Amino acid sequence: MAYIEPAPIKDKENPLESMMERFNLAAEKLGLSDEVYNVLKNPAKQVIVSIPVTMDSGKIQVFEGIRVIHSNILGPAKGGIRFAPDVHLDEVKALAAWMTWKCAVVDIPYGGGKGGVRCNPREMSAGEIERLMRGYTKAMLDVFGPDKDIPAPDMGTGPREMAWLMDEYSRAKGTTINAVVTGKPLVLGGSLGRTEATGRGVMVTALAAMQKLKINPFQATCAVQGFGNVGSWASQLLEERGLKIVAISDISGAYHNENGINIQEAIAYRDSNKGTLEGFKGGDKLADPMDLLELDVDVLVPAAVEDVITVKNVDRIKAKLIVEGANGPTSAKADAIINEKGIMAVPDILANAGGVTVSYFEWVQNRLGYKWTAERVNRRSDRILKDAFDHVYEASQKYNVPMRIAAYIVAIDKVAKTYTFRGGF
Ligand code: NAD
Repeated sequence: MAYIEPAPIKDKENPLESMMERFNLAAEKLGLSDEVYNVLKNPAKQVIVSIPVTMDSGKIQVFEGIRVIHSNILGPAKGGIRFAPDVHLDEVKALAAWMTWKCAVVDIPYGGGKGGVRCNPREMSAGEIERLMRGYTKAMLDVFGPDKDIPAPDMGTGPREMAWLMDEYSRAKGTTINAVVTGKPLVLGGSLGRTEATGRGVMVTALAAMQKLKINPFQATCAVQGFGNVGSWASQLLEERGLKIVAISDISGAYHNENGINIQEAIAYRDSNKGTLEGFKGGDKLADPMDLLELDVDVLVPAAVEDVITVKNVDRIKAKLIVEGANGPTSAKADAIINEKGIMAVPDILANAGGVTVSYFEWVQNRLGYKWTAERVNRRSDRILKDAFDHVYEASQKYNVPMRIAAYIVAIDKVAKTYTFRGGF
């Protein structure tokens, strides 16, 4: 359950178009000028490198590495590095832009970036992955930097790879610079509170939304899809605040209990059972795990994978509130029907922004040369998430748009205004 910096894996055919669809709607509502629209539509920088790596066989293999900086108007670019066999420039461009909007929604001083290396880490030894990560870092020495572009883990990478990146960058600069990357192991300057950060943000935004919808947490029911990092932390924290979690699920199936599932027990069971809920007896197993999404609950938290709420099932969804722990769980076409049904959906770029917020705290602590307590990290990230929710809610009222488009409006407006004030173009 390694930390992964937020990134959507929406429409696999063309992720750039999927992101642009929502961007365009928000830009139109906002009355964005053509000039600024064109600037924000295009990434500021795209770098493609070839990375020769000596494989264990002794042969040299050349890998393609990409880094895209979509915008650095608000501050240094921030975004993960994805190691995957099918990663491509269009995808990385979409993910980089998406990071710009996400950081802007939670008002942290970062632009958006993303990286990718076309490789299959599952088929590579630890030594090969290390040489690839170091090679990628060397090739990106002029791109990365604590004031320029700060990578983090994404699919196929984790704290181990970030440690290699930090070391390679520091060797080249002749001094330890841990603020060049986030998602590091704790001992290298990672932040306390980061593991639970995303689930915590889901809890904070869910409670804020419930307040607006006048749903009493102590009388509310909730179903959570996905019981990994985000889903299990969100379940635990929501349960602690009074909600009855009546269903949870993971790749092994969905488990339902009208009287409420004991989340501590479920976590303990998963941890003692190779990370899966298979065989969990705290609830009845649903015949079809996707039925979890259609249960008659107040709050639904999709926290597993993308594209699970689609035109195929959205008609049968009964929840009053959806809080997107996962990235891209709702397809663009289902969006419209959710809105027609009057369901409030707290979008991914807001609901799961707790992760990037604590990444930002990791960078702040590294630069201060100081370590905050978990309590301080939690308090500060709760405040950021609550403020972000309030801004997005206000925008949704002002522009009479759903929360998703309102989140894009808040983000685009901030970047556009900063761009216009800075000028120089
Ligand atoms: P994880 O790997 O820790 O957990 C994923 C969970 O989903 C597992 O329990 C897995 O069994 C389950 N799952 C997989 N396929 C499923 C399916 N079809 N139906 C039901 N359950 C299924 O991952 P995570 O870190 O919890 O991430 C979950 C989602 O949240 C992803 O979309 C991720 O991009 C997003 N996200 C994560 C973070 C973070 O900090 N970890 C931050 C922002 C967004």
